[in-house]
Amino acid sequence: MTLKPLALLPDPILRAKSDPIERVDEDVRKLADDMLETMYDAPGIGLAAIQVGIPRRMLVIDCSKEEEEDAPLVFINPQIVASSDDRSAYEEGCLSIPDYYAEVERPAYVTVDYLDREGKQRQIEAEGLLATCLQHEIDHLNGVLFIDHISRLKQNMVIKKFTKLAKSRGGTRI
Ligand code: ZN
Repeated sequence: MTLKPLALLPDPILRAKSDPIERVDEDVRKLADDMLETMYDAPGIGLAAIQVGIPRRMLVIDCSKEEEEDAPLVFINPQIVASSDDRSAYEEGCLSIPDYYAEVERPAYVTVDYLDREGKQRQIEAEGLLATCLQHEIDHLNGVLFIDHISRLKQNMVIKKFTKLAKSRGGTRI
């Protein structure tokens, strides 16, 4: 397994729309494993392929608690097919926007169709942190970031801060 470098705000790749995966083969499974390793190393609870620079519709999530065993989930071509009117708010962060957190309100329950690591069609009804995490990561596949859900003023401040940081690093990728 290989750790992948993370794309950071304001890297334009984060705004790209990812393409569906046509066949779940060994390459796709290898990418899923690399993404999981990269996510655990960060550490984070969710990662979309686009965050490691690969515009394909896949994400990995592990919302298990610290004291619980790891529960890695792989979602290929995930699609929200239903969401609740009930909403819930979570303090969100993102591996592509390190050390920045803001409260985002989203539907509390979502139903998601997806293919698993073996290419099998599945459906999950998610609530709580998993529902938020799925929506955050599926947003990534459409070039949407969680800061798009906060006030324009706050969003501009974050983008400015990370643009400055990127300049001081001498590039937009590390
Ligand atoms: Zn994110």
